[in-house]
Amino acid sequence: MAESILVTIDGAVLDPDVPILHGDDLAAVRGDGVFETLLVRDGRARIVDLHLQRLARSAKALDLPAPDEEKWASAIDTGARVWAEKNDNAEGLMRVVYSRGRESAPVDAVVSRDRDDTGLTRDIGGATEYLTVGPVPARAAVVRENGVKVITASRGYSIDLAAAAPWQLLGAKTLSYATNMAALRYAQDQGADDVIYLSSEGIVLESPRSTVIAVEGKNLMTPPAESGILGGTMQQAIFAQAEKEGWQTEIGTLRPADLVCADAAWLVSSITLAARITEFNGYQMSSPEHPEEFSALVDRAID
Ligand SMILES: *Cc1c(COP(=O)(O)O)cnc(C)c1O
Repeated sequence: MAESILVTIDGAVLDPDVPILHGDDLAAVRGDGVFETLLVRDGRARIVDLHLQRLARSAKALDLPAPDEEKWASAIDTGARVWAEKNDNAEGLMRVVYSRGRESAPVDAVVSRDRDDTGLTRDIGGATEYLTVGPVPARAAVVRENGVKVITASRGYSIDLAAAAPWQLLGAKTLSYATNMAALRYAQDQGADDVIYLSSEGIVLESPRSTVIAVEGKNLMTPPAESGILGGTMQQAIFAQAEKEGWQTEIGTLRPADLVCADAAWLVSSITLAARITEFNGYQMSSPEHPEEFSALVDRAID
């Protein structure tokens, strides 16, 4: 049995079975907070900088005080190291949680870090900030190896929504995840492994927990964040590595037919890394000659 890890933002390693949320924590009652999911491999969390940058962007979108990146980086190192020590260096799934705190004493009512000179301490309330590390779900190994069957699902809104309605928080990784979980259950009911959301124009957006990349020769293509998707850290790391190695990368509009016609289409994320789409709306995708080329690129991207 894996031994889970719980670490506060202050670096305290706690018993993971001791409860740390109050009943009125806004994460629990409103999903009012942001999070990150990081892969721990060989005792080290991967692409930490990209995750901390996105945590800061997400926090800003929710008007939360800027996260303390130094404290987080240190807590993340501690969590990854303690996880590896206690679990034979197994891969781990780290979740970084930043909630607005208790409804009775949310972070903004107490003190924010840029208002520290008020002399108030954060001890009587404020944000709830901790991370956990647990095993990578067995599903990750399966989809890395065998790929995924996907179906498309309408998201019901236009690619214009992100700009027109910033309160929808489309570019933030918020704790409000119930609709994403519902979409995954819908996929399962249909005999698929995952969904790809389409805009009301029928344009490819993203999956509930991963980013779409189409591969054509040595050309990589992914949808723009402006279309109302969450910018993926894994996609960002892959594109940076690919450019270093002389691949072409492009951010542009993809339609379902573009995925079907590509040499290969992949769902990428921090935890599952790269899962090739093997079936798309029931259509059997052709196999690329060397799928391992892309998977190897992904491994180098997080090294
Ligand atoms: C977390 C998430 C992703 C994947 O992001 P990575 O940083 O690559 O792990 C993609 N889409 C959504 C909606 C997500 O919540």
